[in-house]
Amino acid sequence: MKNKTFYITTTLPYVNAEPHIGFAMEIIRADIIARWKKLLGYDVFFNTGTDEHGLKIYRKAQELNIPVQKYCDEAAQKFKDLTNMLGISPEVNFIRTTDPHHIAAAQEFWKRVDKGGFIYKKNYSVKYCVGCELEKTDSELINGRCPLHPLQDLEIIEEENYFFKFSVFQQKLLDMYEKNPSFVLPDFRFNEIKAFVKRGLEDFSISRLASKMPWGVVVPRDESQVMFVWFDALINYISSTGWPDCVADFERRWVNADGVVQYCGKDNLRQQSAMWQAMLMAAGLPNSKTIVIDGFITGEGGVKMSKSLGNTVNPLKIVTQYGKEALRYYLAREVSSFEDSPFTMEKFKEAYNAGLANGIGNLVSRVMKMAQDNLEAPIKVPVSVGDATSGAIPDDFKAAIERFDIHAASNIIWQHISEADHIIQDRQPFKLIKTDKVAAQGIIRDLCVRLFVIAQMLGPILPDTSGTIKELIKTNKTPATPLFVRK
Ligand SMILES: [Zn+2]
Repeated sequence: MKNKTFYITTTLPYVNAEPHIGFAMEIIRADIIARWKKLLGYDVFFNTGTDEHGLKIYRKAQELNIPVQKYCDEAAQKFKDLTNMLGISPEVNFIRTTDPHHIAAAQEFWKRVDKGGFIYKKNYSVKYCVGCELEKTDSELINGRCPLHPLQDLEIIEEENYFFKFSVFQQKLLDMYEKNPSFVLPDFRFNEIKAFVKRGLEDFSISRLASKMPWGVVVPRDESQVMFVWFDALINYISSTGWPDCVADFERRWVNADGVVQYCGKDNLRQQSAMWQAMLMAAGLPNSKTIVIDGFITGEGGVKMSKSLGNTVNPLKIVTQYGKEALRYYLAREVSSFEDSPFTMEKFKEAYNAGLANGIGNLVSRVMKMAQDNLEAPIKVPVSVGDATSGAIPDDFKAAIERFDIHAASNIIWQHISEADHIIQDRQPFKLIKTDKVAAQGIIRDLCVRLFVIAQMLGPILPDTSGTIKELIKTNKTPATPLFVRK
């Protein structure tokens, strides 16, 4: 019997900047869901990669005086290294928008949309934010500037370009939203995009003159034009599955998959849940099934992180100092699943000590010390390892993670940790052992079972810690060194 399949992807970060904490959060969360689905027995296709075309990247390479492809190669490697450092599943698919297969797929996609009659050419003049790589209408500007890139001057583009007939998809998008009441999560973001589509859609340009923007995918049958960077980048979500060459893979991974989930930040709401969906419709291809929108990680007091304010956080530095599981813990449990959340190193350290060193780390040491000293043999593991459907994993945890509320799911684990702590405190098996060995052993065995359930839940979130705890239980050993050293 063939396994059910599940598709999940992150957005592709632009290679022009260092990996930042927001992307670390996005990919860790997607990894948590991918690992969870794998635990449930799904055949998971998990995609990430790098977005490498566009003016921003072209200019950055020029600034550094190196060939653009070389610049992209080095930058893509940084993001590949990042996936290793964050403990992302090794089977993750890493697509680069400069991959020949992706370029061919983008051109084929364009041809299909064009064949459907959804592309036309016209003269236009527009304000363009290179920071966003997006056109900006006056209503989107604050004091004539992009609110996300207030330090960058907008460019005025005046040229003849290709346009996508976005406007004809208004009703189709609204119908699709209607049929799929959890298409965008959380609800308040879904309402935001519905309102945007209801206000009416404007066609948008999808190409630029190659003479002005040489770093992009060439438009089929018109070498004087290249595709706008995000038009080609969005197509990675299906080119990564093998489309259009491997129809069988595309059908298994996308068309017939049980879930087709795209994780992204709130600045990507419009591209992911409206523009990309209309593009798929125009090409005659099935839509995504769920778009999960993250909030931003901000500096202290909710201010945007930026280099000029000096409040940015380098995820790799945190990993070097605290370990990848500590960063995964923080981004899973201490950050809201959907709202903006402030981040400071003080907060991080506090959370590390409370949740990891004094929390799970301390519990494992206490329980396994008692087990090693007082049980003759390891406990029988209650269910087959990895079988999340057999009841070992609590239903409230399952429900939370299924609705992508990773913060709530993590809190449930730490409730279980605190319950186990209370049992030790209240029933004091380490004292009881002197007067009633049988009763004390019963409590210790129960604590080991509880710890095993905790390790099961931790599996997708802190895979290494989960594996270590299960191994200790199976061998009835106390850890040689604390799982998380107090900082
Ligand atoms: Zn901008």
